[in-house]
Amino acid sequence: MIEAAFRHHDLDWRYLSIEVAPADLAAAVEGARAMGFRGFNCTIPHKVAVLPHLDSIAESARQIGAVNTVVRREAEVIGENTDGKGFIESLRTVADPAGKRVVILGAGGAARAIAVELVRAGAAHLTVVSRRRRDLPVEADFQLWEGDYAVPPETDVLVNATPIGLYPDVDARVPVDVRTLPAVVADVIPNPPHTRLLRDASAVGSTTLDGLGMLVAQGRIGFELWTGVVPDERVMREALERAFRGG
Ligand code: NDP
Repeated sequence: MIEAAFRHHDLDWRYLSIEVAPADLAAAVEGARAMGFRGFNCTIPHKVAVLPHLDSIAESARQIGAVNTVVRREAEVIGENTDGKGFIESLRTVADPAGKRVVILGAGGAARAIAVELVRAGAAHLTVVSRRRRDLPVEADFQLWEGDYAVPPETDVLVNATPIGLYPDVDARVPVDVRTLPAVVADVIPNPPHTRLLRDASAVGSTTLDGLGMLVAQGRIGFELWTGVVPDERVMREALERAFRGG
């Protein structure tokens, strides 16, 4: 996705996938600094562990407690979190988060990032539904997830922030009562984009948002932070779709 945008915008840059063992994380960050990298993404298991190795952390990333995008500004390496921001951008294509009542399924990293950015965007109320109680960085009602979850009728947006439905478990069902799905249903799963939950939601008339949109939006934000160029999201989305099709 990022390399496709580099090519499209005639940027002679590279985006490399590099596996780093947990014990080598500090050396890897120093290496990136020494080699003049303009930034990098980090994923599990480094999203939290990377924090002490950075010079500063953006406010929302600090609140989320995790970094997925690192940006170099002069001599400083700065931690950002674009996951929740990508979600909000994607949501804004169908609804303004301000004043909305949102239910988030799951309480892990994606849920935390989405919850923080929803509050920053002015959401009126959050409910987090999870199999076990976990600390959250924002004020939210907590519901224990047992059996099929019935979404409260006043809910505007439901977000699946669990890995249920992610390839290859594409037939896995999110335990939720489909008759209670609200006006907007969003899924964080990027692959496949048309998850079983979103198909069910479309069938009952909800507007749906796929996780591919969120993934592209968070990538776009990182791209802009690194290069200063606003990339063409269509090019990025097409590249991801090709990659997920195995093409
Ligand atoms: P975590 O492991 O941090 O959290 C997963 C959450 O889902 C936990 O609350 C976990 O509950 C819950 N969960 C997992 N399986 C089940 C289940 N069978 N029933 C009920 N709850 C379940 O993962 P992340 O938050 O980092 O990632 C979640 C998903 O989000 C991944 O599939 C990832 O691909 C996607 N993602 C998408 C992004 C995008 O841009 N589209 C960006 C970031 C993530 P428990 O604590 O009880 O195990």
